[in-house]
Amino acid sequence: MTEPTLGDLLEEMLRTRPPTSASDDRIVYGAVCTWWGGIADVGLKPFAGEAVKGNLPVCPHCGGPLFEMPSLGEWEEAVRRHAERSGDRDYPAFVAWLRGRPCLSLGRGGYDEMRRRFDAEARP
Ligand SMILES: [Zn+2]
Repeated sequence: MTEPTLGDLLEEMLRTRPPTSASDDRIVYGAVCTWWGGIADVGLKPFAGEAVKGNLPVCPHCGGPLFEMPSLGEWEEAVRRHAERSGDRDYPAFVAWLRGRPCLSLGRGGYDEMRRRFDAEARP
């Protein structure tokens, strides 16, 4: 048996991907940037491989790759756990403030810059 090609894997992924709908509350977030939002808010980058053509879901601001979580509830739970573990009590409010904002690159200090903006704008 031969190994599946990247085209095979992408075709399978696109075929089995659940449709986006109003009840689809998957959360996506930047792998290399500060953006996060709902699955319906993603940007699409045209993709043409050997075996498949389609669109890759990407950050709507920078076009960067995204990670996905199954639901808003699981996302919020992960945020809460991080806040608890790190002792950062403002983290949940920061993450809520960050939703949908134009992103900054994580590799270029984007997290710290967004945190600075949050502190300046959103905190009393
Ligand atoms: Zn981005």
